Amino acid sequence: MVERKLLRPESMEDALGQREHYQRDALPIAGGQSLLVLLRNKLIDPKVLIDLERLSELREVKQSKDGISIGAMTTIHNLFSLPEVRTAFPVLSQAASKVGSTAIRNLGTIGGNICHNEPGADLPPALLALNALVELRSRRGTRKIGLSEFLRGYFETTIAPDEILCSVEIPQLPAKAAGVYLKHAISSEDLAIASVAVVLIRDNQQAGKAQEVRIGLGGVAPVPFRPTKAESTLRGTMLNQKAIRAAAEIAASEADPMTDPHGSAEYRRKMVKVLVRRAIAAVLEQPERNGHGKA
Ligand SMILES: Cc1cc2nc3c(=O)[nH]c(=O)nc-3n(C[C@H](O)[C@H](O)[C@H](O)COP(=O)(O)OP(=O)(O)OC[C@H]3O[C@@H](n4cnc5c(N)ncnc54)[C@H](O)[C@@H]3O)c2cc1C
Repeated sequence: MVERKLLRPESMEDALGQREHYQRDALPIAGGQSLLVLLRNKLIDPKVLIDLERLSELREVKQSKDGISIGAMTTIHNLFSLPEVRTAFPVLSQAASKVGSTAIRNLGTIGGNICHNEPGADLPPALLALNALVELRSRRGTRKIGLSEFLRGYFETTIAPDEILCSVEIPQLPAKAAGVYLKHAISSEDLAIASVAVVLIRDNQQAGKAQEVRIGLGGVAPVPFRPTKAESTLRGTMLNQKAIRAAAEIAASEADPMTDPHGSAEYRRKMVKVLVRRAIAAVLEQPERNGHGKA
């Protein structure tokens, strides 16, 4: 049996050098909560693991007037314990609080959750609704792309074999924004059968009117996505029962669900309708907040 090598770089420079050298023979390991399951089940067999644990810059969380930059090694637990995330982006904190068990949240990271790109993962729908961007670095340079571009397909992203995901950036929400994340799963430790994140940007002039409703869906397609046709029907409209129901129907028609032991495709599609309706109703009930999440 060939022994697997574990590298523990002390600096980004070293880590990027190792990525460049080993390319597809190596995989970064963050919290290990998904990677170790794949290894144990012999679904992957990398010759080298590059442990990101010692790269302190990947744990930095930086807030500015433009938004927040969250280091890729930030734990899922910290996404709901850090006040700067919880107050400004409650939809992300809510999604983080729904991930698996306490142990998984304590070890699993935002970067790992995104890079693993499981269809029923909790963070991607919330991050999509927040218009998040990801910053990727390699020895060739740095690139920043929208999360929707990064999440390419079923368990697949557009990361290159020499790149490391360094941070997730979330633009500051406009004033009068609110967010809600709802998840439907078999148990609290399971991945979503269906989940929805809604970010509502209220109209400045008229109560009950939406400037924009952003919707992120998880578990109901090979990859988490934004149902853009449903969103466009709600742009600039009064959010009454009729408009919400119609948008939920359209969102369900945009889903591309699979059947698996957790739920049939038909059931998942129905759940999109239910969850979108409930999430928009819930977000409308939230008190108005300014852009920094203060009531
Ligand atoms: C029992 C169980 C229940 C779960 N329940 C849920 C759930 O309810 N909701 C949910 O969303 N998830 C759930 N998960 C999945 C899991 O929590 C996350 O996917 C996990 O936390 C990923 O983060 P990690 O840091 O552990 O990543 P790792 O397992 O270390 O890595 C995952 C993948 O990402 C790559 N990677 C990690 N970080 C980087 C980086 N910075 N740059 C480039 N590549 C990187 C790795 O190479 C690997 O391919 C569950 C997992 C288990 C085992």
